[in-house]
Amino acid sequence: MRPTGRLHLGHLVGALQNWVPLQDRHDCFYFVADWHALTSEYADTSQTTAYAYENVADWIAAGLDPEKSTLFVQSLVPAHAELYLLLSMVVPIPWLERVPTYKEQQEALKDKDLSTIGFLGYPLLQTADVVIYDARVVPVGEDQVAHLELSREVVRRFNNVFGEVLVEPQPLLTSFARLPGLDGNRKMSKSLGNTIELSDDAEAVRKKVMRMYTDPKRVRADIPGTVEGNPVFLYHDAFNPNKAEVQDLKDRYERGAVGDVEVKQKLAHALNTMLEPLRDRRAALASKPGRIREILEEGSARARKVAGGTMERLRDAVKLRYR
Ligand code: AMP
Repeated sequence: MRPTGRLHLGHLVGALQNWVPLQDRHDCFYFVADWHALTSEYADTSQTTAYAYENVADWIAAGLDPEKSTLFVQSLVPAHAELYLLLSMVVPIPWLERVPTYKEQQEALKDKDLSTIGFLGYPLLQTADVVIYDARVVPVGEDQVAHLELSREVVRRFNNVFGEVLVEPQPLLTSFARLPGLDGNRKMSKSLGNTIELSDDAEAVRKKVMRMYTDPKRVRADIPGTVEGNPVFLYHDAFNPNKAEVQDLKDRYERGAVGDVEVKQKLAHALNTMLEPLRDRRAALASKPGRIREILEEGSARARKVAGGTMERLRDAVKLRYR
């Protein structure tokens, strides 16, 4: 995850909730992609490390366990850059120019100069991030399968040139629901300012929910409303475990027999109940100053060891061996 802002509910449903159960089935590596943050944010890096620590606090609050998984910082494992360089020797530039997000992001972020080598090369750096751990699987949503396909092509090309030294990673498709924003926009996103952050307190959550976009045609509580596609009900479905309550609210909403205030109060309650254990874990972590840094230092040392082993093998394969 790139440390470019605070984490929100979208990160919880789209990433963290998938990552947590994987810890019991796999040897997982989760990292702060600070070099990836630079690909688009190089002009202002003043907050990058602060976001890194905050993001990792949220990961642990959400259930990632440094005893089970390796949590680390990309730039503390310089071998990622060395492998990226080796890969860059065999990968044709058009392969990277063809990645759909390359042009899309340049269009979307017109205020930034993204005509850099770093930005063009980021899918290659991602490839290095994955294959340096001989990763067999990468948890991705449907929309990221194309990126992983590029990684697989890169591996095949590299192996063609230097022998079978890299493992082709497979996508591990995660259930990926794109969480809409509080404003009804199709995606909750920091840049759209429509988020509930994992670190918001109960009162902030309540206030944001009360201002949420809902059925705009429903100006009074006795007018039948639309449940389908209504973000308030999408959130109820995603976060309220009391299915009977949700069904009752939907029925009454469609009949014009419930006010928006009640629907939203119950949603705020469900969200705060869900976030409470995260808040407790984050508070426990905050009471130990320096603990996150220690976790990242230990995790990065472990990652360096694994990555270093891979690089030894690759230096042999590339025949850059001086002894
Ligand atoms: P970003 O911070 O936008 O780069 O997102 C990092 C990852 O978090 C994405 O690849 C998704 O897996 C997840 N994510 C971010 N926003 C959302 C959202 N609104 N709904 C679902 N998943 C999301």
